[in-house]
Amino acid sequence: MTTVSAYAATSANEPLTKTTITRRDVGPHDVAFDIHFAGICHSDIHTVKAEWGEPNYPVVPGHEIAGVVTEVGTDVTKFKVGDRVGVGCFVDSCRECDQCRAGEEQYCTNPGMIGTYNSVGRDGEPTQGGYSGAIVVDENYVLRIPDSLPLDAAAPLLCAGITLYSPLRHWNAGPGTSVAVIGLGGLGHVGVKLAHAMGAKVTVLSQSLKKMEDGLRLGADEYYATSDPGTFETLAGSFDLILNTVSANLDLNAYLKLLKLDGTLVELGMPERPMSVAASALVFARRSLAGSLIGGIAETQEMLDFCAEHDVRPEIEVITPDYINEAYQRVLASDVRYRFVIDTATLRG
Ligand code: NAP
Ligand code: ZN
Ligand code: ZN
Repeated sequence: MTTVSAYAATSANEPLTKTTITRRDVGPHDVAFDIHFAGICHSDIHTVKAEWGEPNYPVVPGHEIAGVVTEVGTDVTKFKVGDRVGVGCFVDSCRECDQCRAGEEQYCTNPGMIGTYNSVGRDGEPTQGGYSGAIVVDENYVLRIPDSLPLDAAAPLLCAGITLYSPLRHWNAGPGTSVAVIGLGGLGHVGVKLAHAMGAKVTVLSQSLKKMEDGLRLGADEYYATSDPGTFETLAGSFDLILNTVSANLDLNAYLKLLKLDGTLVELGMPERPMSVAASALVFARRSLAGSLIGGIAETQEMLDFCAEHDVRPEIEVITPDYINEAYQRVLASDVRYRFVIDTATLRG
């Protein structure tokens, strides 16, 4: 076992503080790597604030992890020391259920994927995430970061990137399709870039017009404020696909009416409380309401390669670990442009 520095939450109400955690010895199939950067996802905040149930404190969050390999196990074939790698939201799964066999490990049913943090690993120990100096992960759950992507900007792709890429592909976004993204935060801004790179027409639906210039620069064709009731009249029946990235409850019925016949609204945000849906918002235009969870390992690699090829890079604000608590406050205030990424240098070796 090795000891590494980390930032952990010890309760829902206390700030995260510096601590140490242990990482397991490198097994035959393991890759050990130094973490260089870790993105701050809103899911980290939901988890440590116990909005999805009481987590197993202490929790070291972080599932947008990028770094460089320092050691590989004797049977590792996919990676070598010095490789640039990443880890996303899960570090293992059963590998045997239909979903795992189909490369949809995030939907593992036996009993479920092993989360990068706040889960229990195969060794029976709690998993701890990327706000730390180093990590050890089975090679089958490690991604290769293409050379042209800087490690800091690549980190948010491991969760925000794949969470938007997967539904855009699944619902066939591309030339001739009209896609709306609700919420221009960490997930949303990558969604705008990806949908634009895939050739879709992209509309941002944000609370205000404050970030409009950014949205258009990121690749949006149109930008509307949802605080203006006129938006919902103007855009009625406009979209093939709406991706909802908002971390809070919305009036889904108002947004469903923005879909065309047969359109789909995909829930990506995971607010604390349930939301209600009127049957009429679906029935009158054969609309669908769906959800989507991150993406499998193969699709995550495909997404990273797509981002390298199309120069899709998250817009980031790099911070030091002692700024994590302030960054959380700014995410909660929708004051993030557009992903905080922790430079973990002070947590390494
Ligand atoms: P984020 O950076 O905070 O972005 C969320 C955006 O939603 C904000 O920037 C804001 O955009 C909008 N918003 C926030 N509060 C709002 C409110 N009360 N009403 C309307 N709009 C509001 O968060 P994120 O990291 O992108 O994550 C977003 C959500 O996705 C979280 O719930 C997270 O847990 C979830 N998530 C899901 C998956 C998945 O696999 N499904 C993966 C990762 C994260 P504007 O300022 O533009 O309005
Ligand atoms: Zn996330
Ligand atoms: Zn499985």
